[in-house]
Amino acid sequence: MAEDGQNYTMFSSRMLIDTVGDTTDAALEASGLRDVIGVLAGRLFNWGQRKSLFPLHLGIKCCALEMAAAGASRFDAERFGVFFRSSPRQCDVLLVNGPISKKFADPIVRLWEQMPEPKWCIAMGECAISGGPYFQSYNVLEGVDTVIPVDIYIPGCPPRPEALIDGFGKLREKIIRIGAVPSHSRTDSVAPIIIGDEQ
Ligand code: SF4
Repeated sequence: MAEDGQNYTMFSSRMLIDTVGDTTDAALEASGLRDVIGVLAGRLFNWGQRKSLFPLHLGIKCCALEMAAAGASRFDAERFGVFFRSSPRQCDVLLVNGPISKKFADPIVRLWEQMPEPKWCIAMGECAISGGPYFQSYNVLEGVDTVIPVDIYIPGCPPRPEALIDGFGKLREKIIRIGAVPSHSRTDSVAPIIIGDEQ
């Protein structure tokens, strides 16, 4: 009889799972299979992530209309595996498409922190890149990269939907190149990509 209302069946199930897990782990390590599985799983994860980018469905200002056009029937970003989702907890790309006022800085950082790793940030338009027409204004940040690390910059006021789709393509190439590295572990050597800047 279990004491203090403990569920003895649950307790022994947990012990069994731990024992089987430890034994399997030791066997995989001894046989060298663990590294192989790690590499294969990493490649599978990398392939899955780059083929299905889920940007947050967030519209800040006029660039958001170009985002909407990219998702609508004429450009149909879903053809490229770009699915807009409304919850940050289901997203891996934060698409910033307008100026970030100082009042909005905390909420957008909160949205970023609610997204699971590995995650990516795209700055779309001059406002998100540098503040745009509000550059050095009293209440607008000089670019979202002052609070969130940016992976792709898409210049323009506004950039066209083709440029946005190109930006997602370049992000896909970046994910192939560096793998599914968490945003806080990316080194300075992983330079952000600027769309239209031939390299
Ligand atoms: S970059 Fe231009 S189009 Fe985009 S949000 Fe700023 S003012 Fe609007």
